[in-house]
Formats: sequence, structure tokens, C-alpha cells
Amino acid sequence: MSIFKRKVDYTSLTCPECGEHLDYNKEAGTARCKYCNTEIIIDAPSARKSNMLETVFDFVERQQDRYEQNAEKRRLAEEHEAARRRAAAKKRNIILGVIVTVALIAYALIILL
Ligand SMILES: [Zn+2]
Repeated sequence: MSIFKRKVDYTSLTCPECGEHLDYNKEAGTARCKYCNTEIIIDAPSARKSNMLETVFDFVERQQDRYEQNAEKRRLAEEHEAARRRAAAKKRNIILGVIVTVALIAYALIILL
């Protein structure tokens, strides 16, 4: 005789339509009445736990997606910035070239005249 009573959580499954015993399908999380064929969905703790786990996985996946999207955004912004800098440098070089050319022409005119 055990002095410890094992605590078992359970709910008796009876058909809500006819009151007969229901057969519980653990895999499907449903129970079906043999007599009137009523099927009910059981929100078992294990099902809830797996839903919670799915929620956690979904959350992690969303965070990862967001991180990848941000990384892509940063990469595009850096590319855009580099292109802008190249364009600015090109413009500076053209202006410098014009100034040097004008200075050389002015110098040549001063020397020749
Ligand atoms: Zn029934």
C-alpha cells in the first residue's frame, strides 16, 4: 500500500449531445462519440504547450527576419552613400580641372602678351 497518493489531473469525457463516453484521440486532439458521432476538440495541456512553443518559434523567426531585413536596409544605405560620395568626388575633380585649365590659359596669356 502506497502512502503517497499520486495526483492525476483528468476530466471525464462525456458527449455534450447524448452524455455517453467519448473516445479521445490524443494525436488529433479530438474526441468522438460512438453513439451520436459528435466530435469535440480537446484543448489538452500538451496541445497548449506545443502552441506556446510554436509561438516562441514564430517570434524567434520574426526577429530573425527583421534582423535580416535591417541588415539588407543598412547594406543598401551604405551602397547609396558610397555612390553619393563617388559622384561628389567626380564633381570636385571636374571643377578642379576647369580651374586649373583656366589658370593655365591665364598664365599663358600673361607670358605671351
Ligand atoms: Zn453522443
